Amino acid sequence: MLRLQGINAIIALVGVFAVLHLSFAPEQHSLRTTLSTLLGGIGFLLMTCSVVLATRLEVFEEMFGGLDRMYQVHRVAGTFTAVFALVHFFSIPKELPAGVDPILSSTFPSAQIGMASMVLLVIGLFVALNRKISYSRWRNPHKVMALVYILVIGHFMNAPGIFYERFSASGIVLILAALIGTIALIYTMFGMNKRTAMRFTIETVNSLERATEVVLKPVGDMLKFKPGQFAFVEIQGKGWSEPHPFTISSAPNERRLRFTMKVLGDWTRKVREELQPGREVIVRGPYGRFDASKTECKKQVWIAGGIGLTPFLSKLRAMSADDDREINFAYAARNREEAIFLEELEAVAADRSNLTLYPLFSDEGDFARVDAAKERLPDELTEYEYFICGPKPMVDGLMKDLKKEGVKRKAIHVEAFEFR
Ligand SMILES: Cc1cc2nc3c(=O)[nH]c(=O)nc-3n(C[C@H](O)[C@H](O)[C@H](O)COP(=O)(O)OP(=O)(O)OC[C@H]3O[C@@H](n4cnc5c(N)ncnc54)[C@H](O)[C@@H]3O)c2cc1C
Repeated sequence: MLRLQGINAIIALVGVFAVLHLSFAPEQHSLRTTLSTLLGGIGFLLMTCSVVLATRLEVFEEMFGGLDRMYQVHRVAGTFTAVFALVHFFSIPKELPAGVDPILSSTFPSAQIGMASMVLLVIGLFVALNRKISYSRWRNPHKVMALVYILVIGHFMNAPGIFYERFSASGIVLILAALIGTIALIYTMFGMNKRTAMRFTIETVNSLERATEVVLKPVGDMLKFKPGQFAFVEIQGKGWSEPHPFTISSAPNERRLRFTMKVLGDWTRKVREELQPGREVIVRGPYGRFDASKTECKKQVWIAGGIGLTPFLSKLRAMSADDDREINFAYAARNREEAIFLEELEAVAADRSNLTLYPLFSDEGDFARVDAAKERLPDELTEYEYFICGPKPMVDGLMKDLKKEGVKRKAIHVEAFEFR
């Protein structure tokens, strides 16, 4: 779900800070110092937003429209932090103004801490944005960002007053941000995992065409979730521990949790080749806001590409008998063999008058395309809401073409299967 409250809140925070900073700039500060510290301050606020979003708290999911969106904003905020930090670094005067006591206004250790944090930040950002570095290699080094955040606080708190008045109006905003950011950091490192962990054991591992269905049995309480949500799956034991996000493909009322995992890299291959029933699994979640039942619009188009089927599987498995939505479901796969669960979907569609299934096989020249949808759908494209999950090129192409056809952005809901 697209939600703008979170983005608007960040823009408002930055705006308030800028106004306070510029309105109450101390007289002894040169314009250059005021502007440079403004950029540094904005960079710090964006970094704080990034840190706060990493807590994965539900309230922020509501504001941003899901954890995948939160991570996108986390990444963008991190990138802008580095840009602002660099401009701040190059624009801040390197010498104290004439007549200022160098002992009372010493830039040590603030300048050195600032320098160290900026170097680490830029390296960290390079690693985070470099897709050639695999997720598992990137994950632990990324934790260094917590240290960078603490260093930036140290840089600001030690800055001499001739560069930054800590207890000015805008300085107090930064101090509050530093407090919130530090609490968020501690929570992420020590509290979050305990709060969300639920224990399961593997009941069965089913091999499908290029995918594996893993069925989990709860050890204690069953995880409560809504169709379309996902969770982090952490298989216990040596070589498994890194958590991976997967959409829950079972319905919430089942006593088992099912995940359908496409074989993509080392971890998902290991699941297929080595995972055995009985092994313990920690599941953390649920997360995500890809919920087609919340919207007022009764005419819906669901588009799944390949493994992007999983959130829709859960929605279909959970659908009540009196569901009054008109659902047009396009399921795109390479061919019938690769269209996992197609038989189940066909059986559901045959059983329900409100569901029309369109299997699309690219080997037969049938793709998930807007011009094809226009021909097949009974009403104008603008009368529907769209729920799309699949490979990025497919999703981007559909979004672009739907917008060209006049469909509003808020009527298009997308689930991204990646955070980076
Ligand atoms: C919200 C969400 C829901 C998803 N639901 C499903 C699903 O239902 N079925 C399915 O098959 N896949 C799903 N995925 C994708 C799945 O998480 C990856 O395919 C899987 O983690 C790949 O792991 P790998 O080591 O085998 O592959 P790799 O080749 O190492 O990674 C392939 C891709 O997955 C990303 N990735 C790898 N490890 C992680 C990790 N620990 N955390 C986050 N991203 C990672 C990488 O950045 C890369 O883009 C989902 C992803 C997200 C973000």
